[in-house]
Amino acid sequence: MTPSKIVCIGWNYRPHIRETDAELPKVPVVFLKPPSCIIGDDDPIVIPEGVTNVQHEVELAMIVGRRCSHVSEEEAMSFISHVAVFNDVTARDMQSDARRTGNPWSVAKGMDTFGPMSEPVPPEGLDLSSLRLELSVNGEVRQRGCTADMIFEPSFIVSYISKYMTLEPGDVIATGTPEGVSEIRRGDAVEARIEGVGRLRNPVV
Ligand code: MG
Repeated sequence: MTPSKIVCIGWNYRPHIRETDAELPKVPVVFLKPPSCIIGDDDPIVIPEGVTNVQHEVELAMIVGRRCSHVSEEEAMSFISHVAVFNDVTARDMQSDARRTGNPWSVAKGMDTFGPMSEPVPPEGLDLSSLRLELSVNGEVRQRGCTADMIFEPSFIVSYISKYMTLEPGDVIATGTPEGVSEIRRGDAVEARIEGVGRLRNPVV
């Protein structure tokens, strides 16, 4: 199902805030990626000509199961039907330029193929507050984290977004990345894993 939107949370893990020179957020930093950026397992991440310093960001994604608006933290997770491994691929130089000039970074985050996502699985039996995330490039581990280290936890994120944007069935919520983001280049093989959720492999071309 094509989502109506991909809602992403930025800077939700402290060490990643330090490595990108950002400030500790007081409320979730929310931005959107277009549904057109989604690709699946084994599909190539395509770096357009002239785009420099493209980076990986492994994230836990939650998929909305039913329409959700103004829900409390207590009821929020009952609106999540699936979870998946997501890679919030980012053209970092372009994003940094946008941050410096105070402009939106939509293109840096929204290029075609910049949203690899694994096959969604139901969250039953998973403790979303203590899942290990890992991402490797050419077999070398670059990112290792745990959802326990999130600043804003999943139920708060769903409740917070739903106060402002109605979440539709199929919408994807990407919950932020731990530290260790690094550049990927043409010819690389990227593999993201979240225990109990799945695995996502994408070549870079
Ligand atoms: Mg991200």
